Amino acid sequence: MNQGRIVRVSGPLVVAEGMENARMFDVVRVSNYKLIGEIIELRRDRASIQVYENTGGLGVGEPVQSTGEPLSVELGPGLIGSFYDGIQRPLDAIKAIAGDTITRGIEVPGLNREKKWHFVPKVKVGDKVTGGDVIGEVQETTLVMHRIMVPPGMEGEIAEVNEGDYTVEEIVAKIKTADGVKDMDMIQRWPVREPRPVKRNLAPQTPMFTGQRVIDALFPVGKGGTACVPGPFGSGKTVIQHQLAKWADAEIIVYVGCGERGNEMTDVLREFPELLDPKSGEPLMKRTVLIANTSNMPVAAREASVYTGITIAEYFRDMGYSVAVMADSTSRWAEAMREISGRLEEMPGEEGYPAYLGTRIAEFYERAGRAICLGGDDREGALTVVGAVSPSGGDLSDPVVQATLRVVKVFWSLEDKLAYARHFPAISWLNSYSLYTDDLEDYYREDLGDQWIEMRDQAMEILQEEADLEEIVRLVGVDALSPDNRLLMETAKAIKEDFLHQNAFHEVDTYTSSGKQFKILELIMLLHDRSKESLGAGKPIEDLVALDVKEEIARAKYIPEDSLDRFEEIKKSIVDQTEV
Ligand code: ADP
Repeated sequence: MNQGRIVRVSGPLVVAEGMENARMFDVVRVSNYKLIGEIIELRRDRASIQVYENTGGLGVGEPVQSTGEPLSVELGPGLIGSFYDGIQRPLDAIKAIAGDTITRGIEVPGLNREKKWHFVPKVKVGDKVTGGDVIGEVQETTLVMHRIMVPPGMEGEIAEVNEGDYTVEEIVAKIKTADGVKDMDMIQRWPVREPRPVKRNLAPQTPMFTGQRVIDALFPVGKGGTACVPGPFGSGKTVIQHQLAKWADAEIIVYVGCGERGNEMTDVLREFPELLDPKSGEPLMKRTVLIANTSNMPVAAREASVYTGITIAEYFRDMGYSVAVMADSTSRWAEAMREISGRLEEMPGEEGYPAYLGTRIAEFYERAGRAICLGGDDREGALTVVGAVSPSGGDLSDPVVQATLRVVKVFWSLEDKLAYARHFPAISWLNSYSLYTDDLEDYYREDLGDQWIEMRDQAMEILQEEADLEEIVRLVGVDALSPDNRLLMETAKAIKEDFLHQNAFHEVDTYTSSGKQFKILELIMLLHDRSKESLGAGKPIEDLVALDVKEEIARAKYIPEDSLDRFEEIKKSIVDQTEV
């Protein structure tokens, strides 16, 4: 054990001397309060430590002790349904010990030590196993089967394995390895800054379907992909995160709340447990892990919470699940980096952010991916990361937004202009993009057919042309447009209002299957094409603008999923009413 002494305290940063035997990123206990910190700079015997707890009242000369271990998380049964702080302390356990305010230096293990889990072996004595092999299963919640895996790097033969009820620390199996027999309990410890290994990375090939039309149809994210959603206040960021948590085609959700305002976090803590998983009717928390760095934790904990979240997500990916991580907001994490870097007196980059801002952000998103997991059965897992960014004033030239856009492949641009106009989700169809569109094309052709690709591209073109025409309309009025252009404006309006606009709080509208998305867009494009023909045959634009069937198209999104045959009647009306 290496013991040093504090020589300086600067907010969340503590400098200690006499640390010559410590290593970079070692976890240290600071002062007699034993506050948890991490070494982030080491020059000879002088260590700079970011402290994850309030450093108020610490003084020069107090002891600092290195644990010799990097910042790690505990992985095993009991993660699901937990609320953790940035360094994986369960908030309810802390509350039980310390009341409402986190008392400093409290040590609570990430996984409950008393609870018994029923372990069912999946291997037998004599089986050869390597890292990633599933040796048994635990039904962790009604929605999640937790696979107990051989830790990466271990290899051997099963010497003993028994079904039964165990705590996470009890021995469920013994493995004969080259260095002797190893006892296996149900906890893996993993350093958070180190990505967990996979056998092979794969490119995303299927979309992470969300049931949100603007996302699925125009800007899909691949399973195992990355997306970013910059959200000015009131633009619907929270609603989108909730919709994704509820509806995204992912088996496990890890939500990292990295907020500065305490009440933002309290909202998450209050609202999430009330959300129901629409597919099973069970509470969403039965497949969710929440990590929230509360307002009374200093900025350094924001960084820890991001790493803790992604590591837990990787662990479930390793089991062969599709996992979605939502980090809200990565801007708060970047601000923490800026503050710490400033106190370290590093050379600042753009707007005072450290020069390594881009690298750190990239390393985080690069932990997303679709992969063949470790282990003999070649199961596939996926980790999708959606990061919210909150640039001040919604300014997209902000360094955090720019650094994020360099790595993520999907950009959902929330615009306050749309939010003011109550157009939700306020995702701009002009500024957003998805770089997965090509990778996912085969999937869509298979799932929805070539017509889907054509309609989607046509809809996108119409929206872009409309944006150009709008300028003209502003100058000379809509009546000055040619009939063709007026039709285009009408269709664009229908795409926006009848397709892209989606009410998260409407029982039916909150989620739209891919089949129904196809059918709604099909109505709009059918009317467009038929109207164009009628115009050519001499029907006046005024008549086409006023067709009764438009009302039916507008209401099509409220048709329940089990009554999709009603779309056929609307199609018939379109054909009838556009007859010349
Ligand atoms: P932010 O988190 O960006 O501050 P919110 O997600 O809280 O914003 O959204 C603000 C308000 O906008 C919500 O309370 C709700 O009334 C409305 N809203 C946002 N998205 C939707 C949506 N998809 N459907 C209906 N209303 C929405």
